[in-house]
Amino acid sequence: MSGWRIPSVLQQAKILLSERLSAGSIAVDATVGNGYDTLFLAECVGETGHVYGFDIQKQALTSAEARLSEAGLLSRVTFFHTGHERWVELLPPDLRRQIQAVTFNLGYLPGGDKAVVTRPETTLQALQAAFDWLAPGGIITAVLYSGHPGGKQEAERVLAWAGGLDQKQAQVLWYQFLNQKNQPPTLLAVSRHS
Ligand code: SAH
Repeated sequence: MSGWRIPSVLQQAKILLSERLSAGSIAVDATVGNGYDTLFLAECVGETGHVYGFDIQKQALTSAEARLSEAGLLSRVTFFHTGHERWVELLPPDLRRQIQAVTFNLGYLPGGDKAVVTRPETTLQALQAAFDWLAPGGIITAVLYSGHPGGKQEAERVLAWAGGLDQKQAQVLWYQFLNQKNQPPTLLAVSRHS
């Protein structure tokens, strides 16, 4: 087993998401960015499933759209060019309690404007909506960053929210490498029992 590594934060997020997704599933990418996670979700939900994606930056959505289109999977995705905090207003109401997996990748867009970051208030609104809309057995993953201005405060608020969820209703996991330098990202996962 030499060369074996514990899955990175991003790999572990994908493992958790893919375990809950199958053909026909509904998933949400709350922070589309360059669309790598959107593409992954679109592959997992198959031809009969669907993915909804939010991002406030046109640049991000253009890049994501190109990626999905190149893979021939654009028809599996609906993009919203607006904040994930508008979840309840925008997602079809019949999807309430029907969503198997939701992913968040907080912070700024890699290669984009570092001043445009996710914010605690809106992130928490979206996380609560995501939790409320999860199907029984559904999961939320969130990659948290502490290195940029405001990142640490946001991560703390998110962890406080998740840590307050009732263990009768949810499992809450915080996955992190303790000996990596330079404030590496950590992974929060929230799984809803029923
Ligand atoms: N830091 C991560 C990538 C994060 S991308 C990494 O290094 O891999 C985060 C995305 O969230 C950005 O594209 C940004 O435009 C988007 N975003 C910021 N606020 C948002 C909001 N309220 N709703 C939806 N997306 C948002």
